[in-house]
Amino acid sequence: MTDSRRDELAANLAAVQTRIDDACRAAGRDPSEVTLVVVTKFFPGDDVVELAGLGVEHVGENRDQEAGPKVAELDEQVRSRLTVHFIGQLQTNKANHVTRYADVVQSVDRAKLVRALDRGVGNALEEGARHTPLAVTLQVDLGQGEDRGRGGAAPEEVPALADAVAAAEHLQLRGLMAVAPLGLDDDGTRAAFERLARLGEDLRREHPEATWLSAGMSGDLETAVTCGATHLRVGTAIMGSRL
Ligand SMILES: *Cc1c(COP(=O)(O)O)cnc(C)c1O
Repeated sequence: MTDSRRDELAANLAAVQTRIDDACRAAGRDPSEVTLVVVTKFFPGDDVVELAGLGVEHVGENRDQEAGPKVAELDEQVRSRLTVHFIGQLQTNKANHVTRYADVVQSVDRAKLVRALDRGVGNALEEGARHTPLAVTLQVDLGQGEDRGRGGAAPEEVPALADAVAAAEHLQLRGLMAVAPLGLDDDGTRAAFERLARLGEDLRREHPEATWLSAGMSGDLETAVTCGATHLRVGTAIMGSRL
């Protein structure tokens, strides 16, 4: 790790934290309500170590093949200070492996995946490969009409899916996650995140523990903060462009 990379990450992190603080101030929110998840996909484990040294506590990864080895190579000290969020599309046959290293899976979008993750956590607990339940958010597809289908459950599927997670022995329902549909202007993105926030309110009537709203990335984090996001998933603005 060169000092220049460390300086670059530190400067980018500070700039993003300033954006979050400003957005919170404008929205009358306390910045401590907002958790920054630094998305480290495409970037090496050395960067994760550096981020941990800079005080980052949450990292996000979106591909099992990349994330598994990257997390496994972290030393115990670094790993124990980090919460690892899996945020990508997840095939059912990879679910078991993801439960070996993820603390949170944000991208749960179908009942089959709920069952596979619950079984995977059960196995991992039995084998001593993990010691905690798996926190889960449901990914919602905020696309409308032709924009549907970029990943996530349809809004009308959320209640049944939430019940399935809540009933699963080894999973803990935490809330909702979404990616803004592509090609929207600020108003469109805001409308999409407001739909997500309303779905979250509906969800909490049955599941009061489901308080997380994971929304907002490098380009739209201010809008997400305005709409009540509790978790931001920021990659490019901190890590730089894809290697
Ligand atoms: C890559 C990714 C992000 C981060 O996006 P940036 O625009 O690089 O900040 C957030 N959420 C998901 C699901 C991602 O795959």
